[in-house]
Amino acid sequence: MPAQECSALWSKVLQVYDAAQASGAATKTDTQVTTCSDAGVTFVLRIAAALKAKPKGLSGSAAGPAAAPGSQPSSQQQQQQQQGPPPGFRNPFLPYEEALWVQHLSPSHTLLLNKFNVVPHHVLVVTRQFESQQDPLNAHDLAAAQQVLAAMPRGGVAFYNCGEHSGRSQPHKHLQIVPLPFDEEEQQQLGVAQPPVQQLINAAQAAAGAQPLQPFPVRQLPFRAYAVALDNSTTAEQLEAAASQLLSHCQAGLPAPVSYNVILTQELMLMLPRKQESCGRIAINSLGFAGTILLRSQEDLQFAQQQGPMSMLAEVGHPWSSEPAEAKM
Ligand code: AMP
Repeated sequence: MPAQECSALWSKVLQVYDAAQASGAATKTDTQVTTCSDAGVTFVLRIAAALKAKPKGLSGSAAGPAAAPGSQPSSQQQQQQQQGPPPGFRNPFLPYEEALWVQHLSPSHTLLLNKFNVVPHHVLVVTRQFESQQDPLNAHDLAAAQQVLAAMPRGGVAFYNCGEHSGRSQPHKHLQIVPLPFDEEEQQQLGVAQPPVQQLINAAQAAAGAQPLQPFPVRQLPFRAYAVALDNSTTAEQLEAAASQLLSHCQAGLPAPVSYNVILTQELMLMLPRKQESCGRIAINSLGFAGTILLRSQEDLQFAQQQGPMSMLAEVGHPWSSEPAEAKM
């Protein structure tokens, strides 16, 4: 996307964000940030106590209070997972709230602000017609996300929570994008804005001798995860093909449907299959695998520090031992 269009898109995000915060259409929750190193990655932990009140689309608002993380789903929730949203469920993205709308990105996708944000300028790339959050990412989804990533001044992290155990709450297809860096202090130390897992993934790519767009396993992580390296010339069609290859690796040897998380930056796409939504009391979505975890209380923080963020991720991912020998790269 030409530089002028990038800066126009970013200006629009800033302008709509300021207006939405001022009117109360979107609410930013204050967070306390701390870092925690585990297995060679410095994780950014954010504690947002007020988020306890956030509605949960598939397991909450229409169906009563959200289940505590780690608890068994009710029979009502099991029914929703099998048959889709319950009667009375209101899709927040169709129609979306006008005050949260930034601009259309293409005939198929539009850009919204996240209504409940813990970092400024957290946006959602949403399909304009209903599509399911169970569907794989296609070139249209990825082209729309690429536009927004290119517009973020220091880059960003797009993520996709797909399937029952992925940490998603809304059934309407949406990628989310947060600007980098996750933490200013962490960025000052690194001298570069990148997700905390980037170096580990670079090392995995070097170990595998993988060229850009060639999938490789990230065996340095204590759970199954696969990646491709990207560059500025990567097209949306190439991204779709890469996403499809990574998904086949995630699905190998696991019962369908496989829940999974996707992380996309301008440098990499990372995908990993999910076994469960929560580690103990803490629900984890795609962003955890980029290196930042949202916590809701000081008790959560204590739990995360004791457990270690990487061990928490290992508990909600699938072990390498579940990878069939014939699928190994
Ligand atoms: P997920 O939980 O991964 O499915 O992502 C859904 C996102 O939509 C969450 O980050 C919510 O904060 C956000 N959200 C929920 N309701 C609305 C709304 N009415 N408008 C915009 N964003 C919303």
